[in-house]
Amino acid sequence: MNTAKPRYLPADPRAGYLAAEAEIDAAIRRVMHSGHYILGPETEAFEREFAAWLGTAGCVGVANGTDALELALRAAGIGPGDKVVTVANTVSATAAAIVATGATPLYAEIEPGTMLLDVAALAAFLETRRDPRIKAVVPVHLYGQAVDLPRLMEIAAAHHLTVIEDCAQAHGAEVAGRKAGAWGHLAAFSFYPTKNLGAFGDGGAVVGSDPAALEKVRLWRQYGWRRRYVSDQPGRNSRLDELQAAILRVRLPRLDAENAQRAGLAARYAERLLESGLILPVTATGRRHVWHQYVVRHPRRDELKAWLETRGVVSGVLYPVPLHRQPAFHRPELSLPATEAACAEVLSLPLHPGLGRADIDSICDMVLAAPAFA
Ligand SMILES: *Cc1c(COP(=O)(O)O)cnc(C)c1O
Repeated sequence: MNTAKPRYLPADPRAGYLAAEAEIDAAIRRVMHSGHYILGPETEAFEREFAAWLGTAGCVGVANGTDALELALRAAGIGPGDKVVTVANTVSATAAAIVATGATPLYAEIEPGTMLLDVAALAAFLETRRDPRIKAVVPVHLYGQAVDLPRLMEIAAAHHLTVIEDCAQAHGAEVAGRKAGAWGHLAAFSFYPTKNLGAFGDGGAVVGSDPAALEKVRLWRQYGWRRRYVSDQPGRNSRLDELQAAILRVRLPRLDAENAQRAGLAARYAERLLESGLILPVTATGRRHVWHQYVVRHPRRDELKAWLETRGVVSGVLYPVPLHRQPAFHRPELSLPATEAACAEVLSLPLHPGLGRADIDSICDMVLAAPAFA
């Protein structure tokens, strides 16, 4: 098979750099000349600006999204012996963070359309289990669309569960006019380079409006120090550095426009692929989707992916193996038909702010010519 040099990638963080090159270079130089590289004015300013943009009272920058989830869970009191409900069609980091607290992840089923946590199935699951060790739920706002948060918050309140949102793919997603990350007790963000708001290295944040919980995260991210060199608690090292924070401060004011651009490209895909035979993404009413991924479904997904690759279109599969079928999180007795079907069929077509309408059109031409549809 002669594979063409990739023309289109699922994400392109370098394009994000080039779009703001002079400003990013200036921010990097500013930090380099400041002599202050860890937990300084850039991190503080970014924390303020990100919380203001989200509509939360506070934000604590940490080293990555996985740490953000783990520290948020710990700050909410989750630990050994507890159970935390999430979904199985997420990156393994979601479950790894739960396991790192000493708790056990449980997996609820997803809605076949949005492929997000099915809150009705969750309610039924909680009713039948009635397990007092279930302490929290981690909704994953997958692909750029938020879970049905208004309904989830009601269910969580009825069952005395803490909600810790996984917002790693949902910077700017909204439900009923309120941003993902501003609903749960706490929420975790990742600034991995390919996320909608990406750094050029690792980064993450815990956000929320509970000052006591945020203060715990603030202590834990630096050795449990309340005073320098004196640990209140063992803590750890999980810090957002000044370079990444300064870069994120350049990128944050551009995020709304970039999300709008993603939405325009997604609309073009939907127009061109309407009669393709692919199952197209579903956006629930009342939600603002920020199109971290443009995910179509097809039973011959692997064939389609391979065909596109020979034509220079690199697509993604998020995620090929559900958590309950992965060696680290194996639950052989558990059957989640909607989750398993999604994992077998999903394909992310290239979508990022470095692309234009003409790029989407040429990707669609190739998709429509694929033999998987013959
Ligand atoms: C990226 C991602 C994470 C992990 O973030 P890192 O910064 O890579 O640790 C967690 N959850 C989801 C849904 C993600 O997409």
